[in-house]
Amino acid sequence: MHTTKEVAGVSVSGDHWIGGQRVASSSAFEDVSPIDETVIAHIARGGPVEAAMAIAAAEQAFPQWAATPPAERARLLHRVADLVEERIEQLAIVETTDNGALLRSHLRGVMPRVAHNFRFFADYLVNDLHHPEFDTRGHTNRVSWDPSGVAVLITPWNAPLMLATWKVAPALAAGCTVVLKPAEWSPLTASLLADITAEAGLPPGVFNVVQGYGEDVGDALTGDPHVSRISFTGSVPTARLIAMSAAANLTPCSFELGGKSPFIVFADADMDSAVANAVEQYDNAGQVCLAGVRLLVQSSVHDEFVARFVARASALRQGDPRDLATDVGPQISREHFDRIDGFVQRALASGAEAVIGGGPNVDVAAPGRGNLYYQPTLLTGARPGSEVLTDEVFGPVLTISTFDTEDEAVALANGTEFGLAGVLFTGDPDRATRVGARLVAGTLWVNCFFVRDLRAPFGGSRHSGVGREGGSWSFDFYCDVKNTCTNNDRWITP
Ligand code: NAD
Repeated sequence: MHTTKEVAGVSVSGDHWIGGQRVASSSAFEDVSPIDETVIAHIARGGPVEAAMAIAAAEQAFPQWAATPPAERARLLHRVADLVEERIEQLAIVETTDNGALLRSHLRGVMPRVAHNFRFFADYLVNDLHHPEFDTRGHTNRVSWDPSGVAVLITPWNAPLMLATWKVAPALAAGCTVVLKPAEWSPLTASLLADITAEAGLPPGVFNVVQGYGEDVGDALTGDPHVSRISFTGSVPTARLIAMSAAANLTPCSFELGGKSPFIVFADADMDSAVANAVEQYDNAGQVCLAGVRLLVQSSVHDEFVARFVARASALRQGDPRDLATDVGPQISREHFDRIDGFVQRALASGAEAVIGGGPNVDVAAPGRGNLYYQPTLLTGARPGSEVLTDEVFGPVLTISTFDTEDEAVALANGTEFGLAGVLFTGDPDRATRVGARLVAGTLWVNCFFVRDLRAPFGGSRHSGVGREGGSWSFDFYCDVKNTCTNNDRWITP
């Protein structure tokens, strides 16, 4: 049964998008809005059959797309970007209704970035591949980028369309065809993107969407021998399952995974800026992989830092994410909310104290409606080595600890299995270089946070990821990079 629904005034299909057509499934699942826990749509529940159909459609479309001249592929991707820009308001309100992230952020930052993802990789394709040549004793080595085939892209719910297009755009630019599996908790904007790609003129089968639960479609998508690349953003346990499934065919995987990043403040830092950036770690209700959730503050400024942090964090407005004045919205789902609260209550029971927050915000939700609003929380005194200091909570829960020396700061910062990001505040450039060199992190921000440039590499060390995304790192992943070595003395000239 086909399912189309008006969500926030926008018509959205709940079906798959395969081979340029809407495809239904025999069963559907409920899509629940985190704003008030109401059901907003019914989504086709895909399984191995739909996964195989989508891969077949992508495989069939591949030769023609791969042979499409780069300038034409780039033109189509710019057209996708044009349509995203025309529909920023629709995409933003649907995404907010679906995943509860702030409408303000979607309008001003996220959806413009979605368009930019397409423009960036379209331009990269036509301007930045210089086909380097290396001469060796009368031979020429020439480098080229061959599209690898069908790319399976699996994405999470915390920034659905932004993270999906961060993969879709380079994969399509590289000449791959795509099967996207969005997260079951935020399926809607992937469906709107399918409409946009069709309207932009992408040939059928070049871009496909399979909806459903990871456990239903995961193996079928990641263990299929016709898939040439798997790019996944999500949790470490899921990455392990995907890696095992992909191993059967040695399918190359790119993994962007979780984090537990340190936010280090030295006494010599600009304290206004350090505090303001620390409070920003509550962005997206703390559901940000990169967030510096472990505040590590030099002992001599701890009390001043906490006082200023509390004053600033207490002014955050929590509420309906559609309200442009809201700073902190709801968590994504009841399951996730309970998981976050479990971390906090166990930490409190084992001796930690809540400087602010520590439970649900009961004042926010509409009467009689669900309440997934968790208070921005700062915990102090957590037992060293306890789970709240080592495991990813992925909610508005920060911890604070102190250090005296650089060595102590580095040991605390590096003391988890993750290595996604780090934030370092100091007024001393030599200290920044010294300490920064010792931190394990794919991205290190010094006296700033969340400044991103699509040309720069992005990814995680240790269990935070495999590979990097951004610029050439994204593009190369989707290609078979080829070296052609030619003997220039053997041409038969007539
Ligand atoms: P998740 O691993 O539960 O799910 C991510 C995606 O994987 C979903 O689409 C899900 O349906 C799918 N999936 C689940 N089981 C699967 C299987 N067996 N085979 C194939 N696919 C399967 O993660 P989540 O809860 O959606 O997202 C939160 C996690 O993502 C956090 O750990 C967060 O840090 C991480 N994340 C990382 C980055 C980054 O860039 N490093 C960005 C955002 C989120």
